[in-house]
Amino acid sequence: MRLKDKSAIVTGGASGIGEATVRRFAEEGAAVLIADIDAELGQAVAKECTSAGHSVSFMRTDVSKSEDIDACVKRALESNGRITTVVNNAAWMSGFKIATETLEMEWEYAMAVDLKGPFLMSKACIPHMQESGGGSVINIASVGGLVGFAGYAAYCTAKGGLVQLTKSVAIDYGKDNIRANAICPGFIRTPGTAAALEEPEIEKMGRDMSVLDRLGEPIEIANAALFLASDESSFVTGTTLVVDGGWTVR
Ligand code: NAD
Repeated sequence: MRLKDKSAIVTGGASGIGEATVRRFAEEGAAVLIADIDAELGQAVAKECTSAGHSVSFMRTDVSKSEDIDACVKRALESNGRITTVVNNAAWMSGFKIATETLEMEWEYAMAVDLKGPFLMSKACIPHMQESGGGSVINIASVGGLVGFAGYAAYCTAKGGLVQLTKSVAIDYGKDNIRANAICPGFIRTPGTAAALEEPEIEKMGRDMSVLDRLGEPIEIANAALFLASDESSFVTGTTLVVDGGWTVR
């Protein structure tokens, strides 16, 4: 069991990469709290994992709201005793536009969910990690936070900010044995990308981007998160782990 005695919060854990991460962490012995706005899906994932003998619960949480984050952290502490790991995975998987077509409210919503959410969750969890001797903050950014994508102005800006937030947290809390790392996925087949992938040319573009000639699967990001959550990565902090099938190598 690679995550024995770990207690994790996974935001956006009801679907896609987050769901795969919840399942992978639970299989490896972590107690997991799913924090997601989708109560129906989140409760279903928690129920299925619990039936399989794992310790997984759900709390409806909008990561853009500090009162929801505080209640979620309180619940994790009450249920699991401590928080060793947080995976900031929730993002607004919509509103992808060029800058001049992006509405102010769309910009603000993307920043609120994709960037402020991880900030608020880190801010709420870090004091408890400090008290209990350390922890691991894992931010799911994107290759869009490293290179530019056409038509994703707000999303790329938020993800680039998240890569930088990761470095700040790593530097400021390393002395407390708190590690912070970002994962930058390439094109992954999830419910969040399903609508786009119905277009054959987008599916082909996704495959062509990767030197492996295929899209990624959520479990491949979950396995990277598992490494960063486990003690196997005990000297890894402030890094950006690119899991993109070689997209950005060219
Ligand atoms: P998804 O749409 O399948 O899942 C996203 C989850 O986040 C959903 O369960 C949704 O309900 C939840 N969520 C949305 N807004 C929320 C909020 N305000 N508060 C709490 N939960 C909220 O998406 P996915 O493809 O699995 O993406 C997961 C993460 O991976 C995102 O951060 C995304 O930017 C990143 N990513 C995905 C890809 C990809 O190709 N799928 C590529 C790069 C990065």
